Amino acid sequence: MPVTPTPPLEPDAIRRTVATARARFDDGVTRPLAWRREQLAALDRLLVEHGVELEEALHADLHKSATESRITEIGVVRAEIAHALRHLTRWARPRRTSLPLALRPGRAALVPEPLGVVLVIAPWNYPVQLLLSPLVGVLAAGNTAVLKPSELAPHVSALLTRLVPAHLDPRAVRVVPGAVPETTALLAERFDHIVYTGNGRVARIVARAAAEHLTPTTLELGGKSPAWFDDDAHLEQAARRIAWAKFSNAGQTCIAPDHVLTTPDRVAALTAAIERAVRDLWGQDPASSPDYGRIVSDTHHARLVGYLDQGRVAFGGDHDAATRFLAPTVLQMSQPTDPAASRDGEDVPAVLREEIFGPVLPIIPVPSASAAIDYVNAGDKPLALYVFSASAATSRAFVQGTSSGTVGLDVALLQAAAPELPFGGVGESGSGSYHGQASFDAFSHLKPVLRKPLELDTLRIAQPPFSGRRGRV
Ligand code: NAD
Repeated sequence: MPVTPTPPLEPDAIRRTVATARARFDDGVTRPLAWRREQLAALDRLLVEHGVELEEALHADLHKSATESRITEIGVVRAEIAHALRHLTRWARPRRTSLPLALRPGRAALVPEPLGVVLVIAPWNYPVQLLLSPLVGVLAAGNTAVLKPSELAPHVSALLTRLVPAHLDPRAVRVVPGAVPETTALLAERFDHIVYTGNGRVARIVARAAAEHLTPTTLELGGKSPAWFDDDAHLEQAARRIAWAKFSNAGQTCIAPDHVLTTPDRVAALTAAIERAVRDLWGQDPASSPDYGRIVSDTHHARLVGYLDQGRVAFGGDHDAATRFLAPTVLQMSQPTDPAASRDGEDVPAVLREEIFGPVLPIIPVPSASAAIDYVNAGDKPLALYVFSASAATSRAFVQGTSSGTVGLDVALLQAAAPELPFGGVGESGSGSYHGQASFDAFSHLKPVLRKPLELDTLRIAQPPFSGRRGRV
């Protein structure tokens, strides 16, 4: 499917684009809930009416199957829209709070107000979901938006550049396609909030640019999300969930398990069970499965292939540079001698230091759950942590003894699928969160408003003159 390239935008055109979104916000049109509902409904219509085109674009960019695209891209955004439409009235209402005795009588509330113009910078791995899902919260909260799709998903980028202005208020939601020069020009402009999803290196560029304008940011980043497979975990079920979470979208999922920690006794059984699960999910030959993805670029493909000799390939390992295919692969690793050094020591292979972000799953033997906790804590705080265990005490030990953006117990990926659960990282895996009400709140200023009646003037107690008064205030 040939991609029609969108002509690059000059810095002046980018400046005008942002100015249009700001003027539209300043008009006040985005404030009524009716406008917000209309926009959300229009976004939903875009997804329904152009579902097939979006699926084709996702297939062209990432070899995603139509069903996977419907579930993990289009469906996720539609669920966010439905949730926002259901709860918008409540979210947008002033939120009454109580007052301490000393301030009574009085009334206090948090009044949500939109921030202004929000810039959304998206990556390529879920190029529809990660551009449009933040937009749901941005619109629900009454903002205008500038969207920057990823150049590494060119079909999706070109399609959304065409469809968004045709369906949504074209002065309120602007799309700026392009690559680093366009993002750099955008970042020179003043926004009222920036949502960046991607890697930590670019996040630092975004945060520095945002600081120039004191613009708040939501940084949705990645990292090495570990999974613990306990001795008492249900072998087949857990292996299937790990395999599905790791190898869907060919491992290019920010919350995919990066590696699995387990005791030496369980390595062989777990490897065999994951291999069975892979065959069940993508067949004997994943290269010919319509449901198995491809690596996004030649550079990423070469990087991932480079990991294959850093451990023992227990199964998988087949690869083809021409089609950017890399089979679901398990790498058996040797037991780390020192968990603390094993995350960044010089002798540590890159596959154990870098975020893998592809279908290579190292299984790392450690002596016990507590050694696994030490191993996790020796690294950066991950975006997700997974525990497969029949023991509530073990699960609790991981939840309380480690820090991560999110946690899945006996499950992976789906902690990001509930709009009721805010989604985001901590430390190196990001800051701020969104989804559901967390999105509405992230893109609103919750303005504290206090009303104090003039009669019954209790304020006098705290006003001078103080001399001659008894007791303590
Ligand atoms: P990417 O290369 O598509 O980059 C993301 C965006 O940054 C693009 O729009 C790109 O134009 C822009 N960009 C790239 N270099 C830039 C520069 N020098 N200056 C300004 N802008 C620049 O995506 P990526 O970073 O390869 O995405 C993969 C990473 O994203 C992984 O680390 C993954 O874990 C993370 N991720 C996180 C989440 C999450 O929700 N937390 C979701 C998906 C991916």
